[in-house]
Amino acid sequence: MEILEILKKYSFVFKKSLGQNFLTDPQLLDAIARDAGVEETDTVVEIGAGAGTLTRALSARAARVVAFDIDESLIPVLRESLSGCDNTEVVFRDVLKCTDEELNEIIGGRFKVVANIPYYITTPLVMRFAESTLPVDSVTVTIQEEVAERLVAEAGTPEYGAISATVALRGDARITRNVPRRMFRPVPNVDSAVVRIDFLRDKFGDTDVNKVADLVRAAFRMRRKTLFNNLVSAGYAKDKARVAIERAGFATDIRGERLSAEDYVKLYGELNSVD
Ligand code: SAM
Repeated sequence: MEILEILKKYSFVFKKSLGQNFLTDPQLLDAIARDAGVEETDTVVEIGAGAGTLTRALSARAARVVAFDIDESLIPVLRESLSGCDNTEVVFRDVLKCTDEELNEIIGGRFKVVANIPYYITTPLVMRFAESTLPVDSVTVTIQEEVAERLVAEAGTPEYGAISATVALRGDARITRNVPRRMFRPVPNVDSAVVRIDFLRDKFGDTDVNKVADLVRAAFRMRRKTLFNNLVSAGYAKDKARVAIERAGFATDIRGERLSAEDYVKLYGELNSVD
């Protein structure tokens, strides 16, 4: 049975507040699973199973799928739409409220995250996995195009912000495809894009990237302020901030948005070596 018919059969009511816009095109769903690099030995954690359309596509390519959703009214729909997907289980929990220990217990090994999620949980979700010590190889998210552009933005571009630098500290991010709004049911009022982030845990060697991420947050706290002023507001002594910025090779009036993740690693090193 067609997914829209299954939803109708169970009188499913779409909840805008949960970002319930579902993808139905099998070719697109398979393309997203491919974009995520899902292979037959992989465990995939899907966030936001919805009606299970992407879950099915993932199930066909992976060894195992653990799909999360928070809307229990999807239970009868998923029971039907995922029938025959024996390598798939659905967990009705908010993944953002699960601890690493709980997730480890549920997932139990290395995994890839795939998610088509509402815009308001994009940053917390990406950061949840980027910052965790869980054995997660990558996160592939279908999100509002504008947010996708921010995740992959290069330093010095208008889209570049703390989230772009923070993601670049942890790995490599790229847009793998655009998904026009007409591909969703119901049709939302924005277009989407698929972003794949591959985590590279030793991208910056021994550097504590969580500390560099704190520096990035401080540098972007007030976007119209210079990097120097933001560092001083964050508690760095003026002399220390000025010398470190200069030793890292930047003008003292530079703004945080000009610095790449590599530059922040360099600046962090200088801040630590200035007395
Ligand atoms: N994966 C399906 C698809 O591609 O058609 C559904 C995607 S729909 C955009 C997002 C889904 O995420 C909804 O089913 C919603 O209930 C679920 N959701 C929203 N917030 C969530 C959260 N914090 N944890 C898990 N699922 C969530």
